[in-house]
Amino acid sequence: MSTGIKYISTRGGAEASASRAVIDGIAPNGGLYVPTEFVKLDYKTLFGLDYAARCDRVLRAFFDFDIEGIADDAYTDFEDGDPAPAVKLDDKLFVLELWHGKTHAFKDMALSVLPRLLCAAKKAEGDGDKTLVLVATSGDTGKAALEGFKDVEGTSVCVFYPTDGVSRVQKLAMQTQAGDNVNAVGVVGNFDDAQSAVKIAFSDGALGEKLKAAGVRLSSANSINIGRLVPQVAYYFSTYCDLVDSGEIKAGEKIDFVVPTGNFGNILAGYYALRMGLPVNKLVCASNKNNVLSDFVTGGIYDANREFFKTSSPSMDILVSSNLERLIFELSGRNAALTAERMAELKATGRYEITAGEHEKMREVFACGYADEGETETAIADMFDEYGYLIDPHTAVAYSVAKRRGFSRPTVVVSTANPYKFAPAVLKALGEKTAGDANEKMLEKLCDITAMDIPESLIGVFGEKIRFNETVDSKDILGYITRRYSMDR
Ligand SMILES: *Cc1c(COP(=O)(O)O)cnc(C)c1O
Repeated sequence: MSTGIKYISTRGGAEASASRAVIDGIAPNGGLYVPTEFVKLDYKTLFGLDYAARCDRVLRAFFDFDIEGIADDAYTDFEDGDPAPAVKLDDKLFVLELWHGKTHAFKDMALSVLPRLLCAAKKAEGDGDKTLVLVATSGDTGKAALEGFKDVEGTSVCVFYPTDGVSRVQKLAMQTQAGDNVNAVGVVGNFDDAQSAVKIAFSDGALGEKLKAAGVRLSSANSINIGRLVPQVAYYFSTYCDLVDSGEIKAGEKIDFVVPTGNFGNILAGYYALRMGLPVNKLVCASNKNNVLSDFVTGGIYDANREFFKTSSPSMDILVSSNLERLIFELSGRNAALTAERMAELKATGRYEITAGEHEKMREVFACGYADEGETETAIADMFDEYGYLIDPHTAVAYSVAKRRGFSRPTVVVSTANPYKFAPAVLKALGEKTAGDANEKMLEKLCDITAMDIPESLIGVFGEKIRFNETVDSKDILGYITRRYSMDR
């Protein structure tokens, strides 16, 4: 039964139902869907529950269509039972491991839920169209989306990744993906090119008409889709409750989360949790050398006009962070016209500025920092030396920033990938020579040093047959989608 949860676009216009927001992924005017209000969720009612039960409660605060059983089903194939364990390393230092899903990156946390939400939303709307899920990926979303949507009825999924901007393991994992409804395409260009081309596809009238004639509708599995963002809110609540349940913190005590950030989806989910009543002190936005976001938090000016660096944390090599739009919408006091104006400015000039008042509001909640490549390596080595605990380069960016801040209150470093996904960079940080080594050999080397188990599916990709190896120019993504998907009938 609908309880009347409604969504609005950050750029104005009519309200949409929760199911419509999930199905469409992005609002017709190019804005992002946000709930008309944040429902308060009393974290104390989540104590003692398991992860899926907590996730279910969070989902119900955002979606009023039938989601019975979705959270339970979504997390059944995660390793070791607990999808999001917080590991204690020191008195006030915890690492939240979000990489126990099928593809060993935090994207699984949401992409195991989104396909189920989408099917439920279509059912609620009586929508019989085929859904074509478009994904722009800097590496990890692509694989997680392919796995999540694999053979899901009524859907097909097409992933665009920067052909030279992902690791070899990431690329192979996508190229060898099984399933009858999946496709992965390399884009000549960087992630920002792929992301903006995919965003344009959603608002392209001609493409929409052609697809409609073929009975196909577009949706998004990127974190612009509210159905992707909301499942991420759950682990902020769950971690907090775990720390209270285990006696590490007192109920009501405010804690910090340090989040390795690229598209601003993960950390924004933390902000949503805070708005729903979770006792959070600071959300710390950790950037790599592409530090456009930490500059924004520092100075209130978003400026993407800068050199783009390829780093050892490729999932954070992003200059235009799509989810920031949802934050500036909130900071502006939910001023849709102003948000639309700033997004137009961003598109035209690559830059916009928020007011001093808005900046102050942001600083009440957000802190920031960044780590260059050397600091990232040092953080991997330090963490291993000090705690015998291995982290990947993305997590290392966050740890580097956290360490510099110090641990004056309980701090959760959010860990977003299994270190084996980035074995060459991790080995290098540990002082090992890897030149000339095959990837499999590197995984074994890392295993020898750390005695941490190698996830089987990561070894598996080297032996699998490549099914997809097309590349397109970023300017031809629209053309590609038209050719490939409007002929389906
Ligand atoms: C996607 C990703 C990030 C960045 O998360 P955002 O939600 O885009 O900010 C960080 N680390 C890893 C390993 C990722 O896959």
